Amino acid sequence: MLSIDALHVTYGGAVQAVRGVSMEVPDGKVVAVLGSNGAGKTTLLRTISGTLRLHRGRVESGSIRFGGTDLGSRDPAQAVRMGMVQVPEGRRIFGRLTVEENLRAGGMGNADKSAKARAQDRVYEMFPVLKERRSQRGALLSGGEQQMLAIGRALMASPKLLLLDEPSLGLAPRVIGQIGEVIAEINRQGTSVLLVEQNATMALGVADLAYVLDVGEVSLSGNARELAQTDEVQRLYLGHA
Ligand code: ATP
Repeated sequence: MLSIDALHVTYGGAVQAVRGVSMEVPDGKVVAVLGSNGAGKTTLLRTISGTLRLHRGRVESGSIRFGGTDLGSRDPAQAVRMGMVQVPEGRRIFGRLTVEENLRAGGMGNADKSAKARAQDRVYEMFPVLKERRSQRGALLSGGEQQMLAIGRALMASPKLLLLDEPSLGLAPRVIGQIGEVIAEINRQGTSVLLVEQNATMALGVADLAYVLDVGEVSLSGNARELAQTDEVQRLYLGHA
């Protein structure tokens, strides 16, 4: 579905944030990208979603193909129309808008009213807490609920591929577990997921395949369960000595 080949990305022509990364997100799978701060995870997502230019970044070489189409240079709206929707790091929900208004904002690019209504029903089914709180302002939700809202808002665009940037950031372990379950459910319902995470336990628990990024390069990749057993991942990312 998504295929990245030998991608090089720089900022201001100097900082080499992504250096020759190749990766695949097969149709129907959850793929995790792990790596510590500054590894290039966010840059990778920005490149895929077409928001790189907003951050003054540039693709120097390499390609990204989605469903067989070379993405080349395009704007974020095109990426959404093609079926890729990103949930940004830090959630960025609209605090002054109600939960339901936030969801509607996510469905704005979709002209089909009945499809939008179905998407909203699906979101409320997946996140009953959002339905209970649909008239409350986003700012009043807990961190975990805001993350659910950010994911729900992305689902309103009925993505084929959901791009998640560190959904566990700042959340309690129990809530991180719930986010993992939500990702698994979204995938069961037919959406492929690219999950960028520092929380390797959650990410490897839910992913089929995983890539480890280290200073802009892929240092390890493979089946998520097998990767979780390797010494390097155990030591560096799962906190086992
Ligand atoms: P984090 O988990 O901290 O977000 P990351 O793995 O997502 O880290 P990136 O944010 O992609 O890593 O950063 C990769 C490299 O690019 C880092 O060296 C970072 O300082 C640099 N970088 C990121 N954004 C910019 C920018 N807008 N301008 C210049 N350099 C940047």
